[in-house]
Parts: sequence; structure tokens; C-alpha cells
Amino acid sequence: MCGIVGYVGPRESQSILMSGLARLEYRGYDSAGIAVIGEDGELGMRKRAGKLSVLRDDLIRTPLADGTTGIGHTRWATHGGPTDQNAHPHLADDGKLAVIHNGIIENFAALRAELEASGAHFLSETDTEVAALLLAREYRANGHDLAAAFRATVNQLEGAFTLLAMHEDHPGLVVGARRNSPLVIGLGEGETFLGSDVAAFVEHTRHALAIGQDQIVAIRPGAVEVTDFDGTPVTPEPFEVTWDAAAAEKGGWPSFMAKEVSEEPDAVANTVRGRISDGAVAIPELDGLDELFRDIDRIVVIACGTAAYAGQVGKYALEQWARIPVDVELAHEFRYRDPVLSPRTLIVSISQSGETMDTLMAVKYASERGAKTLSICNTQGATIPRESDAIVYTHAGPEVAVASTKAFVAQITALYLLALHIGRVRGAISAHEQAVNVAELEAVPDKIQQILDEEQERTTQLAHWMADTRSVLFLGRHVGFPIALEGALKLKEISYIHAEGFAAGELKHGPIALIEPGQPVFVIVPSPRESPLPARQGRVEHPGDPRPRRPRHRDRRRGGCRGPAVR
Ligand code: GLU
Repeated sequence: MCGIVGYVGPRESQSILMSGLARLEYRGYDSAGIAVIGEDGELGMRKRAGKLSVLRDDLIRTPLADGTTGIGHTRWATHGGPTDQNAHPHLADDGKLAVIHNGIIENFAALRAELEASGAHFLSETDTEVAALLLAREYRANGHDLAAAFRATVNQLEGAFTLLAMHEDHPGLVVGARRNSPLVIGLGEGETFLGSDVAAFVEHTRHALAIGQDQIVAIRPGAVEVTDFDGTPVTPEPFEVTWDAAAAEKGGWPSFMAKEVSEEPDAVANTVRGRISDGAVAIPELDGLDELFRDIDRIVVIACGTAAYAGQVGKYALEQWARIPVDVELAHEFRYRDPVLSPRTLIVSISQSGETMDTLMAVKYASERGAKTLSICNTQGATIPRESDAIVYTHAGPEVAVASTKAFVAQITALYLLALHIGRVRGAISAHEQAVNVAELEAVPDKIQQILDEEQERTTQLAHWMADTRSVLFLGRHVGFPIALEGALKLKEISYIHAEGFAAGELKHGPIALIEPGQPVFVIVPSPRESPLPARQGRVEHPGDPRPRRPRHRDRRRGGCRGPAVR
């Protein structure tokens, strides 16, 4: 989910890799590493947890041998904490082969077991090392033909990956592949680049080639070969980069927030990835916790701000699919009173960073009082997941903007997955209902993408129309209610416009007094159905009165509306 850069050409590659990684800095990361085939013919590698500066300082102290073929990586951990050992590149074939990877290899556990059974030895906890050891095996099986071995390897992988590899027997060659994860080629004078995006090489060239889904590329100095996963040649599409190196800091987006909104479909898809099996949700990280889920009699979701609104959306899903009572509490309020907790209470904490102090304190407070704790978090190895009994990571990639966007949709996704997982374990949801909801969940990334593609112009027009607005209301029912609250929060945070969110049914109990001609009101209507969560037979979905009402006459002096509204 973070940054990848590759280089072959006449120049010393280390500085090109390091400046490429620095340009990809906007993607965020928790560790970084490079590998270079040195002029001495040996592959050198250095990797460090922490900021890029940690790696840079290390390389200044003890440089790698110069070389003109290299790969570099910034990692956002998904499998294994952010440590030196788990950082990329991963080596195989006695340190002669280096692999870097962005994404998630879904079938890594089965592949790892198989490799271990045949004597392979792993040094890290990552899914990536599986690809490295598999490639080494295929390299031997394919008569040391790197391209053929790489093709055989990627065909065995499932999930999302951009993979780059090089071998010290083949200086001047880097191979790469992409599936559900980005990779572009940069064409210089007698030199060729690979990057997660053009920011990796835009300071050297603006001539680029796009690589399609499920394609493999081999780059040599000034030469490129692209095939599909079967080895059939493909002609990549050329394009010119229209923005310069300065804009590259945000990958060409005007702001981190705009960039992160554009990443929402990936955030959802990556969070779902690897957690569906035979049409049902089965979160591998929660294996072995069935008894706990059967035993609990209450869930308390604790979070702050946007994460708390995600929690409120999750409450509907957990109650509907897992049939457990759920309370959603602001973490800071929770720990300053005397909440009733028992060993049968499951605390579900939500924090993008995993370091939100109020949430951390609330988790500690709850576990000291005997409650079980589960963390939903976007940052591997962060404090809150480490303090918790169980973890469900969201895979949104790093979120840099202060206002949360893609992490919010990933948190809701994780909560839906959790609800379906617990519902299955407790037998609270039928296989059919499970399958229907899994299919809905899998369709979400495309739906978000469609909105992002089709609504851009209308959104811009609306923003111009509302530029001088002083106050905005957001209304919603069911899951639309917390979404209305989040909409109001986002508008306040970003536009400094006063906004408030209400449950739609509350309008008649007061807020209607605020409605003037011209008052912008957003009504969240997530689905043409009565409820976006399918109704369970025989249950009343909305306790509020669904009958259409006659329009009321407003009485401004009373600051409300005449009529039979019950307060
Ligand atoms: N899944 C890999 C890991 O955890 C790659 C993560 C990334 O995209 O940076 O190491």
C-alpha cells in the first residue's frame, strides 16, 4: 500500500532509489529498504523500521556498494509488525534474490505451510517473504530464467500485489507484476524506472507507460517488455506526466484528503480481502476465539470522533447480524465514569492510528476490570492493538490528512465483517443472509468508485453554491444517522461552516425551527430500501412512525411546529 521504486540504467542507483522513496513519502510508511546489485556483482541490501531518514542515516554511515540496478520500498505493514526484520526487501536464494511487495497475498498462509514443509526457512512474519521463497524455488525449477520463474510465481499468488524482483545473476534486469495494486513504468534516456506511481521517477522523466491488471514487466536499461500472466506480449499504453516534481509530494492530488478519498475503494477492498471463505465471513485473525464470541453478552464500542461514528454504524450491524446488545461510548467519557463491565463484556475499540490516548486509556481501564478487548486499527504494531486481546486490522494504507476519510469507510467495513463473523459463530444469521451480505460488501468498492467518478462535477457545483452558507443540517435514519453526524463533523472540520447532524425522526422535535428558505439540508438516503441492512423476518425495523405525515404549518414564535409531535 505504500511505495515501490525500481531502476536500471547507467547511473548509480542508490541515490535514485532514495530520492524516489522520498517522493513517495506522501504515501506514508513505517519502514523502508533498498537492494542494489553492486559493481562487484553482489546483491547488497539495507532495511530499517522507522522513517526514511533512519535508512538514509544508516546508508551514510555504512554505504552499500555502488550499482546501477536496484529496487526500493516503503512499507505499511499488514502482516507482521513494523520491524527491521519484516521490512522489505526480502531475500532468498542465499541472499542473491531480492523481492519487494505492496499489498496483501491472500493465500500466504497455505503457501507458507507448504514451503515450510519442504524445508524453507522464514526470517519474517510477512506475506511477502512467501513470494520471495517461492520465486527462489521457481528460479531453480526454471533453469535460472528469472522472467519464467517470476511468471510461475505470480500465477500462484492470490490477493493484491505489486511485486518487484531482481537477482544478482542478472544485473540490468528488474521484473515486476501487478494485480489490484498500482505499478507504472518511467522511460528515461537509456534508463528505465518502475514506481507505485509516477512520483517515484517524475524528477527524471515524464514519459511513462501504464501497466494493466495482471501484467508482468521486465525492465532493462532503455528497454521494456510487458506480458500478461500467461506470457503473451502486451503493448503498454504511453502517457505523459502533466505535473512536476513539486506536485509529486501528494501524488498530483491537491490535498492529502482528496488523495485519500480517491483511495476509499481500495481501503474497503483491501479490508475485505482474505476474510471471506465459501460465501461467509471468516476473519483469520479471530480463529480460536469462537468460545469468547459465544460467551459474551454485551459489546461496548469505544472510540472518539469519526471512529465513534463508524462504531455507531457498526452497532446496527452487530445487533442485527450477531444479535448482541451494543453500546457505543466516547472513550474519554467512558473512562471518567464507573461503567458496568464483566468478563462477558467485549470492548471493541476503534482507532486509525492505534495511539489515540483516550481510547488507549479506556481499553486499559476495561481490561483491568476483566472485560475482553478487541481492537480495530489501521496501524500494525501500534499500542492499542498490542494492549488488546484480539485485533482486526483495517487495510486502508496510511492516512495522512487530519480529517479521516478512507479510514472511516475501512472501519465500517471491519465492523460489518466483525458482525458477520460473530453472527456466523453464534449461529445468529442464516447461511443465505450471510452470503447476501458478503456479496453486498464485495460490491461496495465499485459502488464508491462509481460515485467518485460520476459525482465529481455535481459536488464541485454544490461546493460553489454553498460557499457562503453559514449553517448546514444533515439528517439520516438508521445507519444514515451516524453518517449524518459524520457529515456534519467533516463539514465543520474542513470548511469551518457550522453544521449539525440529526436523526431524521428528530426533525419534528425541534430542529425544524432552524429550517428557513435556502437552508441547506443534506438527507442521507443510503438505499432505496427501507433499511440498508436487509430486514429480518418478523422484526420491526424502525420503531419510529413510518406513516406519511401531512405537512405542518410552522409557527416561528414557538420556535417549532404546530401539530401533534410528541416530545
Ligand atoms: N503485506 C506486506 C507486508 O506486510 C506489504 C505491505 C505494504 O504494502 O507495504 O509487509
